[in-house]
Amino acid sequence: MIKLQISKTLQSKIRKGYPWIFNYQIQNQIPEGKPENLGVIYDHNNRFLAMGLWDPRAELCFRVLSRGKPQKINGDFFLQRLQSAKVIREALQHQGTTGYRIINGENDGFPGLVLDRYEDTLVIKLYTSSWFPFLNELSELFQKEFNSRQVVLRLAQNISNSLEPNSIYRDGQVLYGSENSSWVEFKENGLKFLADVVKGQKTGFFLDQRENRLKIRGMVKGRSVLNVFSYSGGFSVYAVAGGCKSVVEVDSNPYALKTSLRNLQLNFPDKSFPSPNFMQEEGDAFQILAKMKYEKRSFDLVILDPPAFARNKKQKSQALEAYIRLAKAGAQVASKILFAASCTRHVQANEFYDAVCLGIRSAGIKYEGIAKTGHAQDHPATFPEALYLKSAYFNVGRYGQK
Ligand code: SAH
Repeated sequence: MIKLQISKTLQSKIRKGYPWIFNYQIQNQIPEGKPENLGVIYDHNNRFLAMGLWDPRAELCFRVLSRGKPQKINGDFFLQRLQSAKVIREALQHQGTTGYRIINGENDGFPGLVLDRYEDTLVIKLYTSSWFPFLNELSELFQKEFNSRQVVLRLAQNISNSLEPNSIYRDGQVLYGSENSSWVEFKENGLKFLADVVKGQKTGFFLDQRENRLKIRGMVKGRSVLNVFSYSGGFSVYAVAGGCKSVVEVDSNPYALKTSLRNLQLNFPDKSFPSPNFMQEEGDAFQILAKMKYEKRSFDLVILDPPAFARNKKQKSQALEAYIRLAKAGAQVASKILFAASCTRHVQANEFYDAVCLGIRSAGIKYEGIAKTGHAQDHPATFPEALYLKSAYFNVGRYGQK
């Protein structure tokens, strides 16, 4: 195993539970040669501190697997962690939810690995190729534990882009089961959805917004809804289920809009989509919102759930600026409630909240914060960087009135 040396400050951070080491923090020269996938850290007194996944090619090169005392990384180790992760999610199944996150990476003791369940399909998503040597064993363990019909592998973009030419793994690969269809039907709070587990974004669906979708469902009765960045219609299905008056969806991806129509039809077979009460606009959200303002259109409730606006720290100020512009544009067409979310890791909750408030204010609109929320309970966060989803609800326009 590769031995790594780090500063005393970082040693103490790791001892307290922080799971990451970046390559600029490694103080010793690492011998070249056959790449290893595990590394170990000793403290300044040469006592074992932690072991973890080692990937010399990645900027985030070490992710803690275990700390305290040396442990064997084997089937029992993984099974024990999987069992603990299952406990946190047990209640979901009794709430009519069969699509949820079983393992949320570092936060469930599987650093850089996500395991999502969609009914009887499991999707493993890897953020580090250091898991490859364990993949066979893990896939088998997960499949048996859930008696699943299919196990699909998804790879983060950076891994996909740097795969060795002779790699036996690829994004979208079916590790177990047949390759018949990439579409899987599952339930969320009793509503039905289709996810494309092979080609869809993330692992096929934005499971992290489940609790916000439920909250929106309770706010929409008799109201008109604008769902901006609608993807496969998660918020729209909940809005229709909650008895909204109408929905307009905006997304730049025609494939996502089409999937949304399928999801609506699946839940409401007696209604037709699109219809005068359910419209879609394909294109850039900023342009469409500007056009709507020009046309003096307005909606009781506006949902803004964009993709991440920054890929690294350097892009943070540009992301904040985009959140301000978006909140302004959204508030200009909202007459009662504005819901805004951010999944940009490099933007913190308070920074996002301030940006949205600034955006609404700069539109000359009065507002009042109603609630601040985050990801659903199956996305536990044990360190600050894991708190990527931030969201907030505002009364806008007719301040203080319902
Ligand atoms: N709210 C969704 C998830 C949104 S993901 C849910 O609950 O499932 C972000 C979506 O924004 C994607 O569908 C993507 O196609 C879309 N998108 C990205 N850039 C866009 C832009 N400039 N204008 C409109 N849509 C965009």
